[in-house]
Amino acid sequence: MTRVIVVGSVNEDLVVRAPIPAPGETVAASEPLALLPGGKGANAACAAARLGAETEFAGCVGDDEAGERAREQLTAAGVGIEQLAVLEGVGTGRAVVIVDDGGENAIVIAAEANGRLDAARVEAAVAALAVPGAVVLSNLEIPEAAVEAAAAAATAHGLRFVLDPAPARALGDALVPPGAVIVPNEHELTQLGATPAELLARGASAIVVTRGAEGAEIHEPGAETPTRIPAPAVRAVDTTGAGDAFRGALAAELAAGQELHAAVRLAAAAGAHATTAPGARGALGDRAAIEALLAG
Ligand code: ADP
Repeated sequence: MTRVIVVGSVNEDLVVRAPIPAPGETVAASEPLALLPGGKGANAACAAARLGAETEFAGCVGDDEAGERAREQLTAAGVGIEQLAVLEGVGTGRAVVIVDDGGENAIVIAAEANGRLDAARVEAAVAALAVPGAVVLSNLEIPEAAVEAAAAAATAHGLRFVLDPAPARALGDALVPPGAVIVPNEHELTQLGATPAELLARGASAIVVTRGAEGAEIHEPGAETPTRIPAPAVRAVDTTGAGDAFRGALAAELAAGQELHAAVRLAAAAGAHATTAPGARGALGDRAAIEALLAG
């Protein structure tokens, strides 16, 4: 069975196109405000489901309209939400995203329900969802104790753990269980408090660094130089969510039993595909579209 279990964040993004204001400055939006589904965890889950993986999401939303929309959007994308808790009297996670005409952005995240995901809930969710060969994918938009619980539960059930270390911070040992695959982008890589070689020495099986239009590189034990995996060239219109699509696709391919290099190659194409339309989930490709992009 090719199951991906995402333990992570789900947000509603309020996206506004405007110049990024300086402190104290007020600016006008040039387009109407858009409400878009987001959250690194939920975005990656949708990408994995789109590739055909049986995908389950474990996390928290609030009992508000944004939470209802988030649940509907995940379900419509084919993601299982049996372990997505609805918390009473709490708001659903929100991100306020300002995008300027040059494509630069500034983001404020209000964690809300995401900040309430605790270790006990994660342990129970992974225990309920674990099947042989499943991959657990997590990120740092939820409390660290929840991510540590996801890593420990993956290890306890013999499942592969893939970590999106974003927003980046120094990674304690509990976030790097034996065999972990750590997937930072090139900026996050400098904020992990350890080099790829050090993370490998601590037990990770691979560090996969995403490098935007240049694709990705794979650091593995015993290899003197990282392996570069190119991304297909595309006309990128919005790179928001490219990394989430990459990580969701990587988890889906690993769950399907693909070897790491082949999985990264497909993930790089999934990331490239995701840049071809606006919105974090606006251009998630299915397998046929992503394989066509890979074939050139
Ligand atoms: P993040 O969104 O986490 O910052 P990246 O920007 O590195 O991650 O993008 C993730 C992946 O998406 C890249 O490894 C690449 O495969 C693909 N990608 C991103 N931007 C482009 C682009 N302009 N052209 C082609 N592929 C891209």
